[in-house]
Amino acid sequence: MGFLLRGNHPNASGPQRHSAQARYEPVSRFSWVIQPARVYGAGGTILAAASGSEPGSGAGGSPSGHVGPPVSPPPSPQNNYKGWKALSIILIVCGLLLSVTSILGGLIMTAAGCICLHYRAGLLAKQAGEQPKPPYKQKWQIAVAALFIVLAAGGMLTPDPIDKIQVEGLVPSQLSVPDAQSLSFSYSPADASTDSVTCVSSDSAVASVEVVSAENGTIRCLVTPVSAGSVTITCSAENTTSPALDMTVTDPAAEEAARLAAEQAAKEEAERQAAEEAAQAEAERQAAEQAAAAQAAAEQQAASRTVYITPTGSRYHDSAKCAGKNAIETTLEQAKLQGYTPCKNCAGG
Ligand SMILES: [Zn+2]
Repeated sequence: MGFLLRGNHPNASGPQRHSAQARYEPVSRFSWVIQPARVYGAGGTILAAASGSEPGSGAGGSPSGHVGPPVSPPPSPQNNYKGWKALSIILIVCGLLLSVTSILGGLIMTAAGCICLHYRAGLLAKQAGEQPKPPYKQKWQIAVAALFIVLAAGGMLTPDPIDKIQVEGLVPSQLSVPDAQSLSFSYSPADASTDSVTCVSSDSAVASVEVVSAENGTIRCLVTPVSAGSVTITCSAENTTSPALDMTVTDPAAEEAARLAAEQAAKEEAERQAAEEAAQAEAERQAAEQAAAAQAAAEQQAASRTVYITPTGSRYHDSAKCAGKNAIETTLEQAKLQGYTPCKNCAGG
């Protein structure tokens, strides 16, 4: 475009072109090529500015006389360095967005965008023949810096969610009522929000669990065994869950109580049996006593039974007829004492 513009102005006066070239020689080749177009297109104002800095160049004559009517103004007289502007804006916008999640990355990208924009501002200022403004006097620079600080601070103050929970350290696989055990989990990122952290027991009748603390990348839980059984403990956050921890709970006190209860039952059963046996024995004893008493009574009765003896015989008789006419009435006891034996006929002898 620069070459095209330069080709369109064959009538440009030598001294003016030379003064323009001399004026912008230190600038990049790109702006050097562009510059002549501006000299011609901007007319008297630009030339006046150029001649103002170099008073000798205006000596060639009136600027309007050379640049005016014969030259048609180019459609885009000023170079706005739109490429630099677009690149700067993209870098700054991306950098500011990045600063929410990564301060360093956002800072680098935003700073790169600012440097590009400064470079463009410098080019524009030189093009206009002005001194570039220092960065701290640029309003957009202040706005970008303020925006960066707000976004970066917002990003820092808004913690990320926990994306991973792992078991930390040794995990007890056996719990014994009522000894509570602490568990540790590590989470990442360590500065994540722990608001949603929960620990869950698969069976709260076997063991309960509660979060004691969750900070600096470590979650501490306390597992309280309740009764014998198996239970699974997990620790969860909004988006993730730890590996499941299987535990067996034993209850020695309950076992001891059950053992004691069984012992007591056995004891009671033994006592009941013993009592039963004693009662039976007593009943038997009483029965034997009664039988003995009955027998004694019977014997007594038998002893006092009337029998018949004879003075010459050696037998006693139940029947007086069998004893004969000399029968003497006596008791069985007396008869036995006197040595009489039962008659085979009537006394079962
Ligand atoms: Zn007889």
